[in-house]
Amino acid sequence: MSEPIGLFGGTFDPVHFGHLRLAEEAIAQLGLGGVRWIPAGNPPHRGTPQVTAEQRLAMVLRSTADNPRFSVDPAEVEATAPSYTVHTLERLRRELGSEQPLVLLVGADAFAGLTSWHRWQDILALTHVAVSHRPGFPVEIGSLPTALADAYGKRRLADIGGLKVAPAGRIVTFAMTQLAISATQIRKLLANQLSARYLLPDSVLDYISSHSLYRNP
Ligand code: ATP
Repeated sequence: MSEPIGLFGGTFDPVHFGHLRLAEEAIAQLGLGGVRWIPAGNPPHRGTPQVTAEQRLAMVLRSTADNPRFSVDPAEVEATAPSYTVHTLERLRRELGSEQPLVLLVGADAFAGLTSWHRWQDILALTHVAVSHRPGFPVEIGSLPTALADAYGKRRLADIGGLKVAPAGRIVTFAMTQLAISATQIRKLLANQLSARYLLPDSVLDYISSHSLYRNP
């Protein structure tokens, strides 16, 4: 079976080093062939982002351009309908076939909220899920909603390099370098005219400043 492909969705409002390290370390730890970044268009389960979807996409393109293992999928940004992960996965299954191992990458905070995602159980049938540790968000069965804890208990795979044995259906956790960086923190710094340098790539900061983004609280 071919190398698993990582799928990394997010608002990326803006993209930062927490995202970039997650994707980079996932490749090494999970034995991925690469990571496909999928910026959300109009995320149904959170408030309206401060910048346009096209601007968030542009920042992801800038930050990932020099890594040959990263690619960017603009389909959710270009779609007119709201973006649901399950629809994206169904599209990717049509494109890549039923045998290709897929691994949805999520931080521990996003995983804890998975049961609020549209058709979340179908998501688990379409892809593996790899949950990265994130400061402040424990990945413990006891802290998860019951339905998710059950799914995690049944689907958990201890061998994180073993995702290539099946196309979908398993859940692994992996410990990445802990970076307590969030897009919320970056937006707050920028709205208060404070430095966000070294929290995100200079290429993204240059884009933010040349487009006067995140100036308002
Ligand atoms: P916000 O602060 O606006 O909620 P965010 O920094 O959490 O944004 P998202 O675009 O919402 O960024 O996150 C995309 C994915 O990256 C999610 O699965 C999230 O859990 C994960 N992620 C974001 N930041 C980190 C981090 N510092 N460490 C580990 N995972 C992270």
